[in-house]
Amino acid sequence: MTERLYYDDSYLWEFDAKVTRVREGKKHGAWEAALDRSAFYPTSGGQPYDTGKLLFSGGEACVTGVEADREGEVWHTLDRPVAEGAEVHGVIDGQRRTDHMEQHGGEHMLAGAIWEKLQGTTIGLHLGQEDSTIDVELPGERTHLTEEEICLLEDTVNERIRLDVPIRCWFPEKEELASLPLRKAPTVQEHIRIVAMGDFEMVACGGTHPSSTGRIGMMKILSVIPARGKARVSFVCGGRAAAVFRKYMRCADKAGAALSCPVEKLSRTASDLKSRLAEAERKANRFETRELLEEFRQAESAGDLKGITLAAVVTDEKDARAVSAAVSAYIADKGKLLLLAAGERLTFARSDDVPVDMAELIRRVGRGGGRPEMAGGAGIPECVNVARKILVTEMK
Ligand SMILES: [Zn+2]
Repeated sequence: MTERLYYDDSYLWEFDAKVTRVREGKKHGAWEAALDRSAFYPTSGGQPYDTGKLLFSGGEACVTGVEADREGEVWHTLDRPVAEGAEVHGVIDGQRRTDHMEQHGGEHMLAGAIWEKLQGTTIGLHLGQEDSTIDVELPGERTHLTEEEICLLEDTVNERIRLDVPIRCWFPEKEELASLPLRKAPTVQEHIRIVAMGDFEMVACGGTHPSSTGRIGMMKILSVIPARGKARVSFVCGGRAAAVFRKYMRCADKAGAALSCPVEKLSRTASDLKSRLAEAERKANRFETRELLEEFRQAESAGDLKGITLAAVVTDEKDARAVSAAVSAYIADKGKLLLLAAGERLTFARSDDVPVDMAELIRRVGRGGGRPEMAGGAGIPECVNVARKILVTEMK
């Protein structure tokens, strides 16, 4: 069984140990080494493994993964083999671990506040690359939090972070364990390790924690979404919270500069702009519809088509809504037949008293289909002329 050095000192970045066993790794070209003692944290409880190096006589190996087996042995995945029995010097990537401890420590404080303020039970932690999430079971099977509840949780946690109280971890005896006011019952039966943060969080945990709440820095909730009947709370702490703040500030500043307004007025300005744009689009559309309709009327030919007025129109590409409105308006009158090519888009339509199948006609000259009174498709502008000739020939 590997002695876990991080239990006593979560800021121990370097240590000496002896290789007890070596085996080939799961990935090709990788090796795994078990040590008699290690400060490397193996993935568990939602907190990812540490990375770093093992230095030894004759070289060094990168630690790219750490796992504990059922016997309590900690296995370090290495990019090159090391001899069994070798003395090694382990060096941990302290920046990665510090980040993990900030997120993990903040998660404890958030879970404690959710329990105390909302009587919600936290189910699991996922510490991701960008943010961390916890799933929360709330009374009444609620799957969301109100704006006020989110503020309450953030304020509670951040005030406690600023109090900078010590975070203590220890293995209590059975009698002491029974008397502790734990937030939830331990999931293991033996070697139960307790973490306590002031008097506002106490729970069983084998993870690594900052030495005091101040070292968590700050906590910010990013989102709350429903997930499998629970509320999934996404949050960031410490350095990540500062990075998120910087990112959002930059976005807001850029948007403010683009819209020439202060950040506080961004949302109002954007929504005003959106309605003005929609209104301008509606106006432009009405104008285009009127112009198209005028174009249809000017193209009307009074040939001998048994009293039917035929308009064959070739024009450039138009807004689809304007085309649709103009065509509908045109064929609302009796005795109209329209052959339209707007760019590569064909629309053949007729009034309901004209006995021609437009879907069939469009298939004879191009690609497309639709109803007997109106059909759409694709083709070259010449299709309009071909269709006109067919109609003139066949309807004489
Ligand atoms: Zn913990």
